[in-house]
Amino acid sequence: MSEDTIFHRILRREIPADIVYEDDDVFAFRDIAPQAPVHVLFVPKASVRTLDEAKAGHAELIGKLALAAADYARKEGFADDGYRVVINCNDNGGQTVFQLHLHLLAGAPLGRFGTPRA
Ligand code: 5GP
Repeated sequence: MSEDTIFHRILRREIPADIVYEDDDVFAFRDIAPQAPVHVLFVPKASVRTLDEAKAGHAELIGKLALAAADYARKEGFADDGYRVVINCNDNGGQTVFQLHLHLLAGAPLGRFGTPRA
């Protein structure tokens, strides 16, 4: 990955993280500030800053990101109970790390979302 964010540094093992999944295209680790009992971030290894900047050529990669999260949920045993996946984009979406990532939230019934920021 040519750009540098905290997630690139986690991928390079320059800073510690609880990495729970990795393949050729995607890696996943536990969020440092979990918003649910299970909160895992799925990140492409290729640099893509935001969903807005994703191109048609990234379609397979984004599909892999979603399927990696779904596979993880099934393997960890919480797929039937359910979970939520979220991609925040740019400022109003609440994106703070500018490397595309998918949040997987699970482990409890989740409240509604999408309310304006205070
Ligand atoms: P965003 O707000 O960009 O959608 O999500 C970024 C997420 O990255 C946040 O939920 C935040 O807690 C998480 N995060 C930021 N820095 C670190 C870090 O150094 N380690 C881990 N594991 N998560 C981080």
